[in-house]
Amino acid sequence: MSAALPEPNPHIAAMAAYTPGEQPQGSGWVKLNTNENPYPPSPLALAAIRAVVAAEGAALRLYPSPDASPLREAAAQLHAFPATDILAGNGSDDLLNILIRAYAGPGRPIGMLDPSYSLYPVLAAAQGAAVVKVPIHADFSFDVAAVAKCGAAIFFLTNPNAPLGVSFAPVKVAELARAFPGLLVVDEAYAAFADADCAELPKTHANVVVTRTFSKGHALAGLRAGYALCPPGLATILHRVRDSYNLDRLAQVAAAAALADTGWLRETVGKVRSERVRLTSGLEALGWTVVPSSGNFLLATPASAQRSASPATGEHAYAFFRERKILVRRFPNHPLTASALRITVGTAAEMDAFLAAAQAWSEG
Ligand SMILES: *Cc1c(COP(=O)(O)O)cnc(C)c1O
Repeated sequence: MSAALPEPNPHIAAMAAYTPGEQPQGSGWVKLNTNENPYPPSPLALAAIRAVVAAEGAALRLYPSPDASPLREAAAQLHAFPATDILAGNGSDDLLNILIRAYAGPGRPIGMLDPSYSLYPVLAAAQGAAVVKVPIHADFSFDVAAVAKCGAAIFFLTNPNAPLGVSFAPVKVAELARAFPGLLVVDEAYAAFADADCAELPKTHANVVVTRTFSKGHALAGLRAGYALCPPGLATILHRVRDSYNLDRLAQVAAAAALADTGWLRETVGKVRSERVRLTSGLEALGWTVVPSSGNFLLATPASAQRSASPATGEHAYAFFRERKILVRRFPNHPLTASALRITVGTAAEMDAFLAAAQAWSEG
């Protein structure tokens, strides 16, 4: 007779795990629910992985660079940024977690715009930190002064925003950085698809850190890699709380190779952006409302002659697509998103399939 499972820490007992988007089993799905890139990753990334597993994988016997030096060097090159001020992460979620471990805790809340990425509150709960939410208004703006006085030790600005898709101009982010006394994290998971980004800000603003991922723009969500561009002094702090080998050997070299393949990125992002335009105009022609997007997804509110926009209409459309093996995502818990669907921009064929189903729904 063994003892019962002991109670975890009280703040862990009180929290719930993050709910990731569905990864459906079986084939035949048009998967437009988790903002993955529909194209294969850079061949240079695959070649880098093959090189590591060559010679019967002899290199895998050895620990990798503890601080992911191949990836940090590649990012330093790309951004003309000191490699010592770049921190690599096992996906950008790892970076967000590291930042929260170092800057948030009991009495040191995190801040975020509402709506934005629902992982931040989960990571905060794991550190016993409270969450302060600053609203995004119906016109998709937010109040800089409200963030400045929100009392958070660390504030997450998802830019472009997910799930809305809207972006905030770098001048606005710089204004926010000057007004906000804590650490401002600009989560640039979707920067590859936007017209502008904030990668330069950490060079001139001592409280701004920018996080990037390979999961969206670089089509490497299965690899788990990201990096943070840190202001001077921050990386040294963050190294204390990360896993000692937080990126595996394959991720380090594949991400470095992907970053250097700027031609691949330009071509792929160009295709996604042109499908984004086509999807937007196709849905608007059906009478749907589409939020202007700087990401690889659209937040669109279904409506038709038969059905006005509402959460129930959104749910109805979601179920209609799901029956046709088209998977999108719903965000029912916020007024700006409750009636809408978030649709990942896929290939031309996937967008044709989605638009055909949307037309059938709108006419049904
Ligand atoms: C997808 C996403 C991430 C996470 O990226 P990973 O590198 O896969 O961990 C971070 N932030 C936002 C806003 C995202 O949408």
